[in-house]
Amino acid sequence: MGSFQALRGTRDVLAPEISYWQWVEQVARQQFAQAAYQELRTPIFEETALFARGIGEATDVVGKEMYTFPDRKNRSLTLRPENTAGVVRAYIQNKLAAQGGVQRLWYTGPMFRYERPQGGRQRQFHQLGAEVIGSKDPRADAEVIAIATDLLKQLGLTTLTMDLNSVGDASDRQAYRQALVDFLTPYKDDLDADSQDRLTRNPLRILDSKDKRTQEIIVDAPSILDHLSPESQSFFDRVQQLLTDQDISFTLNPRLVRGLDYYTHTAFEIQSSDLGAQATVCGGGRYDGLVEQLGGPATPAVGWAMGLERLMILLQKLHAPPSSPMDFYVVSRGDGAEAQALKIAQALRRQGFATELDLSGSAFGKQFKRADRSGAVACLVLGDSEAESNTVQLKWLQSGEQITVNQSTLLEDAASLRQQVTQARSTHSG
Ligand code: ATP
Ligand code: MG
Repeated sequence: MGSFQALRGTRDVLAPEISYWQWVEQVARQQFAQAAYQELRTPIFEETALFARGIGEATDVVGKEMYTFPDRKNRSLTLRPENTAGVVRAYIQNKLAAQGGVQRLWYTGPMFRYERPQGGRQRQFHQLGAEVIGSKDPRADAEVIAIATDLLKQLGLTTLTMDLNSVGDASDRQAYRQALVDFLTPYKDDLDADSQDRLTRNPLRILDSKDKRTQEIIVDAPSILDHLSPESQSFFDRVQQLLTDQDISFTLNPRLVRGLDYYTHTAFEIQSSDLGAQATVCGGGRYDGLVEQLGGPATPAVGWAMGLERLMILLQKLHAPPSSPMDFYVVSRGDGAEAQALKIAQALRRQGFATELDLSGSAFGKQFKRADRSGAVACLVLGDSEAESNTVQLKWLQSGEQITVNQSTLLEDAASLRQQVTQARSTHSG
């Protein structure tokens, strides 16, 4: 019988790659805490109608990418393909609006889309996202964008580029939509099949087409930026000014759309040229209509989502895996010594030392080899005679210096032991 395999488009994350994931989460968690964003954990599945209404029936995500299934009572459920709809559902259901003021939220977790798997595109993938709900101040747009760019910078990604656009408000888009349809209709037969379909259902989305002939046609299409009302234009000017003031560079791209009805004003995407076809690491924008669309009070909002698999591909090209080195490696042999070794290892861990215990029971020579490979700065050795005298051999692996210490003395002064470990490590790396 064959063994089981993870499903197509899903994967296991193991060491050493897992260190990158933990590092990103740690940096993000800290950065969000510093900016007063609360983490929010929403369910992985929701009723299908939430996404159909929240993301829009006419989108690829809802039209062909969702994992939708009936549960045992024949209700239609969907594995979340993104998390903005879930966050907004939670905002409404938990009456966060009643707390007044602005809600700053962030999340991370798996998302599911039935797509053709390839580099940087999976069926179960992970996003990190931020949402600011309840502010129509352009500083909210600039803040969420700055948090995304600072996070990427802190991770060492300094060569990313950002596209920025405004899709205006609903009435700007109405006018633009008409201009776009008027422009595209004579070319209807030359458009790809999806775009022909969108011409009546969701024409803005055509600007996003990856089809080569369609792209050639839209080069000359009218620009949304020529259809902004004075209010929308001044909002967009202010966002750009706030970004420039923070030295965040961007390129205006009037073809960047988030083609859903509730999207308004700011739209942006951050890309890397090191990712091939799947170049977008982070996408977001303002969605002033969504809370109301999902049954809540009319509430402006802005946010983004970052694709973590794509981020990890970039980080792995850039740095060695971040490591958290061991302090001690504990070697022992013989019943009494092995029992004491476990106790010492636990005591050291309680004091905050990273301690690995060798469980093999093999010859000392083999255990020492593993100690050398473990990355620990010191090895603790217990044999029969140490067990009898309640001592331990403390061997500094870099210098080879070895001393006998009482077990109680070793554990007595954690501060001084920490100092010795730190010093041994710095001479090691220096
Ligand atoms: P794309 O154009 O690459 O399909 P998208 O517009 O569908 O992206 P969003 O819905 O804006 O993507 O999601 C935000 C980010 O999540 C993307 O920029 C990308 O980094 C990541 N992402 C989206 N779909 C996938 C996927 N199937 N596998 C891995 N990452 C993904
Ligand atoms: Mg997609």
